[in-house]
Amino acid sequence: MRIADVLRHKGSMVVTVPPWTTVGELVTELARHNVGAIVVLTPNGVEGIVSERDVVRGLAARGAELLTSPVAEIMTTSVVTCSPTDTVESLSVLMTERRIRHVPVMSEGRLSGIVSIGDVVKQRISQLQDDQDQLERYIAQG
Ligand code: AMP
Repeated sequence: MRIADVLRHKGSMVVTVPPWTTVGELVTELARHNVGAIVVLTPNGVEGIVSERDVVRGLAARGAELLTSPVAEIMTTSVVTCSPTDTVESLSVLMTERRIRHVPVMSEGRLSGIVSIGDVVKQRISQLQDDQDQLERYIAQG
């Protein structure tokens, strides 16, 4: 299965914020949209990604003053992305090796979706279920 198939099911909506958004506002957005990471976007394109892990690390290091600082101070700027033609299997390897749970999808240089580790696991479980159903039908026929 390809990333494009995953996006067909879940949609292409990506929660984004500009880099000057404060960490306090970011936390509100994470909670409001029930997501674990937000892409930092400017008219020039993707500038970074910030996950709940960055917020926790930042709070541990700097305390509550972090909440009034811009997300640009805690975001990861070297964003790992994938393409709609990549396979879900290759993305799960990438996520495991890089220890990241969110990967923005870029199509022709534009942000066109985001896939989380939850989406990958959901797809793998459904694939395994399909395989099992097929095997059971095959055995029942024999
Ligand atoms: P996550 O596992 O997605 O919560 O993120 C763990 C760490 O990896 C955080 O420091 C994120 O900023 C960073 N991160 C998450 N997704 C990506 C990505 N696609 N590219 C680069 N860094 C990422």
